[in-house]
Amino acid sequence: MRCGDSVIFIAGDCDHERPLLHEAVDEGAIAGQNAAAFPDVKPHPRRVAMSVTFSDPQIAVIGNVTQPDRKIGKLDFADQGRARVMNRNCGLLQVYGDPGSGCLIGAEMVGPSAEHIGHLLAWSVQQRQTVRSLLDMPFYHPTLEEGLRTALRDLCTQMNVAAAAAADTDQLEYGPCV
Ligand SMILES: Cc1cc2nc3c(=O)[nH]c(=O)nc-3n(C[C@H](O)[C@H](O)[C@H](O)COP(=O)(O)OP(=O)(O)OC[C@H]3O[C@@H](n4cnc5c(N)ncnc54)[C@H](O)[C@@H]3O)c2cc1C
Repeated sequence: MRCGDSVIFIAGDCDHERPLLHEAVDEGAIAGQNAAAFPDVKPHPRRVAMSVTFSDPQIAVIGNVTQPDRKIGKLDFADQGRARVMNRNCGLLQVYGDPGSGCLIGAEMVGPSAEHIGHLLAWSVQQRQTVRSLLDMPFYHPTLEEGLRTALRDLCTQMNVAAAAAADTDQLEYGPCV
């Protein structure tokens, strides 16, 4: 939050880094601590970047969406079970994985409840969860989050990561198969 090598510290929209309310609050705390501790200025960890646009459908952008070698898993909401029931089956979710670590690094979504799925994704990225470990999480039926599971499974395929345990329950999106 320090302005170059000066004794000026900037927080919030005026630094034009992350012009969002929760970021302005974090930046205020960081800038304030560093200004008070000057010249003992330290870098502080930042939360995973997250932005939500309250359009219809909503838009969410999470974490790192520009890494050139990222792998991409996709889900089209056109045929997603819960989205169809709600007549909100329009949109796309893309989840991004780092091929080296296997971690989820970011996501972009246009679709129903992007603000909520975006939070799940942001928390997962910040906890450095692998795509495979996320597929071990429970997914209730019938929910939009089952669409997230489909995208994560696609990402596993793109990353050549086995998702065997998840495969056992994947069909549950359309009801149990016997
Ligand atoms: C239409 C709109 C929608 C938004 N929606 C969202 C959203 O959904 N979610 C989200 O996280 N963020 C949203 N934002 C962004 C969010 O409002 C800002 O990121 C946040 O308010 C930045 O806080 P700040 O303290 O840096 O600046 P501000 O909140 O703008 O505060 C700056 C204050 O300084 C005052 N001021 C300016 N000049 C002077 C002066 N010379 N002397 C004294 N006082 C002065 C201003 O009057 C103002 O009160 C939205 C912004 C806009 C404009």
